[in-house]
Amino acid sequence: MRHMKKKKRSQSPDLVPHPRYGSAPIPSNVQGVSTEAILRGHWSYRSRDIFPESVLMADTSKQNFNVFPRECYVDMRKLCRSCQRPFIFFAAEQKHWYEVLQFYVDADCVHCPECRVQRIAAKRACQRYSSLILLSKPTPDELQQLVDASVLLHAQGTLKSRDRLGQLKNAALRLIPDYPGTLALVEALRNQDALPPTDGKGN
Ligand SMILES: [Zn+2]
Repeated sequence: MRHMKKKKRSQSPDLVPHPRYGSAPIPSNVQGVSTEAILRGHWSYRSRDIFPESVLMADTSKQNFNVFPRECYVDMRKLCRSCQRPFIFFAAEQKHWYEVLQFYVDADCVHCPECRVQRIAAKRACQRYSSLILLSKPTPDELQQLVDASVLLHAQGTLKSRDRLGQLKNAALRLIPDYPGTLALVEALRNQDALPPTDGKGN
């Protein structure tokens, strides 16, 4: 058995925390696995910034792989593709991804926990928007959902059509004037109108 030298890593205060695992590597009870053995655990590990003390052994029989399984999991520091902030993709999280959820074993985690939550919300908003916008006479409840989805999609830049949003705003002011989302939509459009016009792109 080779005891791993404990490397002191400076804790980056800017690491995006995971709601369940936090923002620091989690030492595991697994003993006797050398860093070299961990690096052999999956072809991608050599190019990763890993924390060997966090290694967890994998049950490859539960993984979904073609050629190379992941023999072990290890906490790794990554940079979020969306916000460019660092985060840790935890070994425990990987075990869940690849053994419980059965994600393909080469699937990579590229977004930090916060951006993942936002992306899921945006995806749901997109689905809600695209089905609700087809209704010719939405109920007040459906209109509320449509307004909420529109505000979110507008905030993230997916939805920009001034005409579409203006029509929706008018319908919302008529049917659900007191709904907080209606105020948010009015506010969002007011802010958009206050921006200087971008060249080439009409509003
Ligand atoms: Zn992010």
